[in-house]
Amino acid sequence: MTYQPNPHRYDKMLYRPVGNSGLLLPAISLGLWHNFGSVDDFENARQMIHTAFDLGITHFDLANNYGPVPGSAEINFGRILHEDFRKYRDELIISTKAGYVMWPGPYGNWGSRKSLLASLDQSLQRLGLDYVDIFYSHRPDPNTPIEETMGTLKTALDSGKALYVGLSNYSAEQTQAAALAAKNLGFKLLIHQPRYSMLDRWIEEDLQETLTTNGMGAIAFKPLAQGLLTNKYLHGVPEDSRMRDPHYATLQEDSLTRPTLAKIEKLQKLAQKRGQSLAQLALAWVLRTDLGRGVTPVTSALIGASRPQQIIENVAALEQLDFSTAELEQIEQILK
Ligand code: NDP
Repeated sequence: MTYQPNPHRYDKMLYRPVGNSGLLLPAISLGLWHNFGSVDDFENARQMIHTAFDLGITHFDLANNYGPVPGSAEINFGRILHEDFRKYRDELIISTKAGYVMWPGPYGNWGSRKSLLASLDQSLQRLGLDYVDIFYSHRPDPNTPIEETMGTLKTALDSGKALYVGLSNYSAEQTQAAALAAKNLGFKLLIHQPRYSMLDRWIEEDLQETLTTNGMGAIAFKPLAQGLLTNKYLHGVPEDSRMRDPHYATLQEDSLTRPTLAKIEKLQKLAQKRGQSLAQLALAWVLRTDLGRGVTPVTSALIGASRPQQIIENVAALEQLDFSTAELEQIEQILK
C-alpha cells in the first residue's frame, strides 16, 4: 500500500537551529548505523522510517559503511526513499559520511581527496540521490593535511553534491584547525557529530566552546549509550538487545559494570519521579539548554532504534525537557 505520511507530523516536533546557520534540525534525529543493513528485517526498517517521519523526524543519518554489509544501509534507505518518499525529498535532511574503511587498498579509507570524493559518489549512487544535505568527514586523518580534507569538503559543496558539510569525531583542537582551514578556503563548517551522553561527557571539556566560537552546531550520537541509558539492562541482558545481536559487536557485556548499573538504577528512579522513562530522561538531558559559560546547546540527539515503538517513546522525551536546578544537581551527584 502507498505510504501516506501523517498530516500532523509537524505539530509537535521541536526544530532547533544548527549553530548560526539557517538550517533547522529536529531535536531528535534517527541514525541508521544498526538495524538497517542487509542482515536486518527490511520491513521493520521501513516501518521505523515511516514512524520517525510521521513524528516530525526529518533528519536521517547514514555513512558509507553502515550495514552490515557495508553500504547496505544506504541501499535500503535509498529503496525506501524511492518507494515511499519520492514526493518528500525537500522535507528531508539526509546525511552521509566518509573516513572509515570502505573498500580495499589505500584509497578506501581516511580523509584524502581521492577517497572522500569517490566515497561521496558511491553513497549518492547507493542512495539514488543527486545530493546529500550534509556530508561529513567521519574522522580526522593524521596523515592528510587538514587543508586537503577541508578543500575536498568545499569541492563537495561547490559541485552541489552536498548542501552543508561537517566533522565527526574531531577533538576540540582538530575542530579549531579544520574551522580555520575552512575559513581560509572561504566556506563554513555547519556541524560536528560527536559522541555524547550522560555516561560520556568528553565534549563538555572544550569541544562545545570551540563549536560555539565557530558558530557550529552539534548533533550528539549514542545519546542512549547504545541502550545502556534505557530500562533494558536493569534486570539482566535481554535476548533481543544490541548486546546479544550477533551481527554487531559494538556493545559488550563488560560495559555493564557495577558502578554503571548503580548509576542507571539511580537515574531510572529520578526519571520515574519526573514521569519519564530512563531513555526520555537521558535524551532530555542531552538536549538541556542551561549549560552556562555561554555555550550553545546540542542541536539534536541522534538516536538509534531497533523497532518503531522505541522511536515513539524517545520522541515523547520532548514533552518534558525542563530540569529544575535540584534535578540537575542530583544528576551531577549520580554521574560523579
Ligand atoms: P543510541 O545510544 O540511541 O542507541 C540506540 C539503541 O538503544 C537502539 O538500537 C536500541 O537497541 C536501544 N534503544 C533505543 N531506544 C530505546 C528505548 N526507548 N528503550 C529501550 N532501548 C532503546 O544510539 P546508537 O548507538 O544507535 O547511535 C545512533 C546513531 O548515531 C547511529 O545510527 C549513527 O547515525 C550515529 N553514530 C555516529 C557515529 C560516528 O562516528 N559519527 C558512531 C556511532 C553512531 P536494542 O537493539 O538493544 O533495542
